[in-house]
Amino acid sequence: MGYWIHLKRSLDQAMLHKDRCLEIPSGPMRADFWEGGWFEYPDKDTALDALENTDATSQVKCPLCKP
Ligand SMILES: [Zn+2]
Repeated sequence: MGYWIHLKRSLDQAMLHKDRCLEIPSGPMRADFWEGGWFEYPDKDTALDALENTDATSQVKCPLCKP
């Protein structure tokens, strides 16, 4: 199962999601250095490492899919 990080630079927040979360957009996604975006990771360890390495002040887990 994959994991996703949603980086929201406007909120200075990075949120971790599970693969099947309803929050994940189904259409084409765009990742933007300035605005952030969605980034996929193959497993939870990699995703947690990536979450810690984001420069977002707030690093949180999704309350819906509870990764
Ligand atoms: Zn989620």
